[in-house]
This record gives sequence, structure tokens and C-alpha cells, in this order.
Amino acid sequence: MKVTIVGAGTAGSLAAAYFKTTYPSWDIVQIHNSVKIPIIGVGESLTPLVGALFNKIGLDESKWVKETSSSFKIGNRFEGWSDKDVNVGFSYNKHLDNILNNKHSNLESMVTVSDDKFRLTDIWLDLYLKGKVGSFSESFNEFHTCMENNIAPFSSDGKIISNQDYQHSYHINAEKFAPWIQDNINKKIGVKELIGIIVDVNLDENGIVNVQLDDGRIHTSDYWIDCSGFHRVLINALSSFEKYHHIKTNSATVMPIKYNDKTEMKNYTRTIWNEYGWQFKIGLKERLGTGIIYSDAYFDTSHIEQVLLQKEGPRNLKPPKTIKWTPGKMRQPGCKNVYSIAAASGFIEPMEGNVLAHTVSGIMNSARAIEETSKGKPSKESNNEFNRSTTIFLDDAADFISAHYTLCKKGNNEFWNDMRLIGKTYRHEELLLHKYNHPNNTIKAAYKLLTTYPDFMWLQLAQEFYDLDLSEYSRNTPQHLQDQVLKYIQTKENYCDKKNYHEKNSFPEFMDYYYSKRF
Ligand SMILES: Cc1cc2nc3c(=O)[nH]c(=O)nc-3n(C[C@H](O)[C@H](O)[C@H](O)COP(=O)(O)OP(=O)(O)OC[C@H]3O[C@@H](n4cnc5c(N)ncnc54)[C@H](O)[C@@H]3O)c2cc1C
Repeated sequence: MKVTIVGAGTAGSLAAAYFKTTYPSWDIVQIHNSVKIPIIGVGESLTPLVGALFNKIGLDESKWVKETSSSFKIGNRFEGWSDKDVNVGFSYNKHLDNILNNKHSNLESMVTVSDDKFRLTDIWLDLYLKGKVGSFSESFNEFHTCMENNIAPFSSDGKIISNQDYQHSYHINAEKFAPWIQDNINKKIGVKELIGIIVDVNLDENGIVNVQLDDGRIHTSDYWIDCSGFHRVLINALSSFEKYHHIKTNSATVMPIKYNDKTEMKNYTRTIWNEYGWQFKIGLKERLGTGIIYSDAYFDTSHIEQVLLQKEGPRNLKPPKTIKWTPGKMRQPGCKNVYSIAAASGFIEPMEGNVLAHTVSGIMNSARAIEETSKGKPSKESNNEFNRSTTIFLDDAADFISAHYTLCKKGNNEFWNDMRLIGKTYRHEELLLHKYNHPNNTIKAAYKLLTTYPDFMWLQLAQEFYDLDLSEYSRNTPQHLQDQVLKYIQTKENYCDKKNYHEKNSFPEFMDYYYSKRF
């Protein structure tokens, strides 16, 4: 079986590594010319889901983090979106199972929405409405204090201390990461690399038969994975594109900058509100990545470049670079023998590190579809499942990101006024409640890679970001469950015990130590 992956950016390099490690007997070929068509090389904030894929392809965390000058991330901090900053962590609290185990024997029973079962969030909400507990992140983010104080929750052997799996993620140096995977994984496990630019795609009734490269070579394959980013070099031949009309941000002006001082290195991604949209700030080993996300229908790119230079110059390491896209998705991200992944299948905008999460689910779901088809399942069925999961994932993320803008009360210019209008048109206040209770957004669905924004994150958006009226969210949970959860929250059993942390537990200090140390 021959599977050809087009692209060697973050998506293509990880897809090739995953396919070859999971199916060593398959012939995995990778076509790209990243010298002539460079990888995007931005995109530094990941979500914990990538940890599952990194484990699967056998990445040694301390090796790749150090060798690519990357860093750790335990959450996202939203600054200036309302009158307070909001810490978004990754914890939900599987741990609470133990406390509620008389009623709930396992995680799934805690997270399934039904009349007779209550989620932890339902119980927390009733306590919150009675004024007995604080915000969602104060109650449940095990790293809330670490985020507030920029502490590194690591033990002396360099491992994160957490009560649950996959509670941390990474800030990657995107220029170095994909080439590192190519050199250290893909070349060693037998992925075949074909350097060339695809200039022609030849189809028959089963999909793509072969492609022609710029030097005239013809390459054939049984299956094709399109990881060519915004070029969509394969999938464009088979599917049309649909715009997201509720997403207006379509441009990013980015620029690497020097540290003024190392306290700027944070254990979280900074998502900072501004009048144009928002600015990200991400601390890596030698530099910070930053950029403004905005819509060029409202603001001139040359103006945004000046704004960024005024804010962050003259400490910039390179001139500002602007990347543009059309927010939207392929109508059929998987079609016949072709599967598109990451930016090739659709792109919303960079907020909440959604792209790499979507990349991981795309890689795993396309691999599953090809495996099942090769075992005799009709390709139409496999493709329908792939398309369903890809579309749910993208649509859900688009709604989630859009609501960050549309429910925001700040900003009096045309852009922010239009955002609020979109929120009214699409009834985003009601959408949040609907999403909170939707079966695609349970933790169970998140484990199945259907969403990266499960129910508690919609609730957090409603409560902690935008202080919406939550009375309709209440499911009148029984008093005895409220008593147990209250005790749990008050004793902060879910928090990691600070005394076990490494002695150098200020995050920048710890990272200096981490880079210099062999764990
Ligand atoms: C401003 C911005 C910020 C972002 N921030 C984040 C973030 O914080 N977190 C996150 O998870 N993601 C983020 N992303 C997305 C992330 O960086 C994506 O992974 C990236 O945008 C796309 O990567 P890719 O591997 O799909 O494609 P690319 O990096 O564009 O790579 C495309 C590959 O395809 C090859 N190729 C293209 N055309 C052809 C052809 N005709 N023939 C042969 N080969 C070809 C190229 O040579 C290259 O190897 C961000 C994206 C942007 C634009």
C-alpha cells in the first residue's frame, strides 16, 4: 500500500511520522519543496491533544523541547477581553471521579449529558450561582496558581506534576520543529522523501491517479494526504471551498522579538485583546513570538505593521511578515482516495491553538479511514466518517472562536461593533448554552477527537469571560452532590501540591535550568 503525503510543514512532517510508525509495512512517500515553497513556520501554541500523537511517534520530550528551543505551556491567558484576565487551563478533573464515585463509577458517566446524570460542571454551576465558589478556573484549573504566579509545576526529574494525563502542552519554535521531525524521525524510520513541486494532478473516477512534478517526474500512489497548507494542491482538484461568514479575521502580521527581560517568558500563551482584534505573545527559549490577528477589510496591513513595530520595535529580530487566508473549510475534506489535513482542510484563525489540535485529529482519522478501506470497508463510508469528524471539529472551533469576539463588550470601532452584530445575528448567547449541552462537546467526544473545546470551555466562556446570565444553565443538582463538590473545591484537593515542585520553580528560571540539564 502506498500513501503519499504532500507537504513537510508541521502537518506533513507529523503525518509522515504517524503513518510510518503506525503502519511500518506501508510505503510512505512525502513530496515537498520547502526551499521553493517554504513552510508557514509560525504557530507556536499547542493544545494537550498533540501529546497523544507525540507519544505515539515516540518523541522524547526533553530531547525535542531542548533541540528545537521550544517550551512548555499549561494554559492560555486571555488578557483584556473583559474587566478581568481569564486563565484557561486544560483541567476538567477526572480526579473528581474518586469523590463522586458512589454515584459515578467512571469518567464517562460523569460527562454524559442525560436527565439522571450530572456533570461536575452542573454541580459547580449551582454552587457558583449560590455564591459558594469562585470562578471556573479558580475552582478547577489545577495550575491556576501556577499561571497566576508563573510557576513551573515540575519535579526534580524534569517531569510535570499533574493529577491527570495530558494536562500540559507546548510552545514550539515552528521554524525548527517540522525540520527536526523530518531529520530525527522521518529520515530514520524509512519515510521516502521526494523533493519536487506538484504542477499537475491527474484524476480518474477513483480520485487521484498520479501527480506530475516540476522536473517532469510522474508519481503514482494508492492514497494521498494533502498537507500543503493554504496551497491545497491536491484537495482543490476534488472539492470546493466554503467560507465561514461569521469569521472576519483573515490576516496576521507576525514578528519575532527579543526578550526585554526573561520574566516575559510565561508558562501560558498570552491572548491579548486590542482594538484591531488580538495579539499573541509566546515565550520560547531565545525569543518571543508575537503578532496581531485582524481583518484586512477593516484595517490596512501597512497600518498594522506600523502598530506592531511601534509596540514591539526596536527589539524585533526580523521585519514584520503578514500572512493572509480566507476563513473557511473544504466541503469534502476527504474525497475518494484523498484526505486533506490541517490548513489544507480548512482554517479559521490562530486563536486557542486550534490548528494543531485539528491537525492531530485529521492525521489519526485519515489513517483510520485508509486502514478500514484497505480492509474492505467501502471508501464512501470511511470518507463520510472522516468528513463528518473534520467538519464537526472545524465548525465547532469556528463557533467557539467567533463567540470570543461577538460577546466581547469592548471596542467601539466598526470592527468590534460588527462583531457584536454578528453575535446577535447568530444568537451566540443562546449558542453557548446549546453547545454546553451538546453531545458532541462532552469530554467523551473530546477523547474521540470530535472536539477540542468540550462543554466546560463553553461554560467558562459564558461565566468567566462574559458574565452571562447562567440561570438557564442550571440543572438543579441534588444537595448532597453539591456538598461533596463544595468540600472538594474548598480543600483544593485538585491542586498540585506546591511543596513537591523543583526548587527552581519560577518558570523562566526553571526553563534555563531545563535547557542546560540532561534529565
Ligand atoms: C499567523 C498564524 C498563527 C498560527 N498560530 C498557531 C498556533 O498558535 N497554534 C497552532 O496550533 N497553529 C497555529 N497556526 C497554524 C499552524 O502554523 C499550521 O500548522 C500552519 O499554518 C500550516 O501548516 P501546514 O503544515 O499545514 O502547512 P505549511 O507550513 O504551509 O506547509 C506546506 C507544505 O506544503 C508544501 N507544498 C505546498 N505546495 C506544494 C506543491 N505544489 N508541491 C509540493 N509541495 C508543496 C510546501 O513545500 C510545505 O512543505 C498558525 C497559523 C498562522 C497563519
